Amino acid sequence: MRTRSLLISLLLPLAAMTQSATEPARMKPSHVAHLRLGQMQVWVLQDGRLSLEASLLKDIGPAEARRMLGGQEAAVTPVNAFLVRLSGKTVLVDTGMGKDPDEDSGHLAEQLEAAGVQPGEIDLILITHYHFDHIGGLLKTDGTRAFPHAQLCVPRSEHDFWLQEPSRLPERLRGRIPKLKALFAVYEGARALRAFEDGVELAPGLRAMAAHGHAGGHTAYAFTSEGHELWCIGDLIHFGAVQFERPEVGISYDLEGRKAVETRRSFFQRAAHSKVVLAGAHLPRLVGIEAKGAGYVAVPVLQ
Ligand SMILES: [Zn+2]
Repeated sequence: MRTRSLLISLLLPLAAMTQSATEPARMKPSHVAHLRLGQMQVWVLQDGRLSLEASLLKDIGPAEARRMLGGQEAAVTPVNAFLVRLSGKTVLVDTGMGKDPDEDSGHLAEQLEAAGVQPGEIDLILITHYHFDHIGGLLKTDGTRAFPHAQLCVPRSEHDFWLQEPSRLPERLRGRIPKLKALFAVYEGARALRAFEDGVELAPGLRAMAAHGHAGGHTAYAFTSEGHELWCIGDLIHFGAVQFERPEVGISYDLEGRKAVETRRSFFQRAAHSKVVLAGAHLPRLVGIEAKGAGYVAVPVLQ
């Protein structure tokens, strides 16, 4: 069995963000975590953070959920995007929440700068699914593309789910359609939108993997280099303190609860077997996982 030989190469300082005395305390990321895996380089870019209530968890009693969260009623989770450089391509996976006056969010541009990358250098943007905390950074506040030279790659299954005849969508989701249409029209108008089929190879060493359940076309991305494998798994997991150990526990945001659980189990089983590094949009660290009892335990690969 191959040993995990991960080189944590450097931590890049992020310039202190300005803050007026009247503003609430804001997130101050002190570094951008960076990892080298074979020929690929990976940066974790924290756009913001969200507080997720324990009551969102399904198929677990409230007392047990609270116990697993260390006695807390909610878990503060990061909202991450990931930057990967591989085979001469600079790839961004998801784009965070964007600037939201009600949230501590929209730090992606600062994080990219701290990683030494300009928005115009991004070649490909890969979207895991169309929830607001993954697509919110695609446009600047003036409505133009935040990444002017990137091709925006989206799962056709997710795109078609949202842009189907609105009456077929659950009623609670229909209000999001106009904003989604307007957003994707900007990239489409620039001939920069590519909808791909499940399972395709998007570039050498980069493959899309259907991970449906949380969203209609939720998709993970596998990057491989020299025997190393990184999976950007989007929202396959939200509560790291609960769902590794108990992958059968879902979250009420899941579109299809049972399918989301099956997908999580399948991905975890394969990831543990193949010593994959997992990059979750709401996980505080890159992790490997190992089977333990009926579930898994996460082993951080970045400190
Ligand atoms: Zn999310």
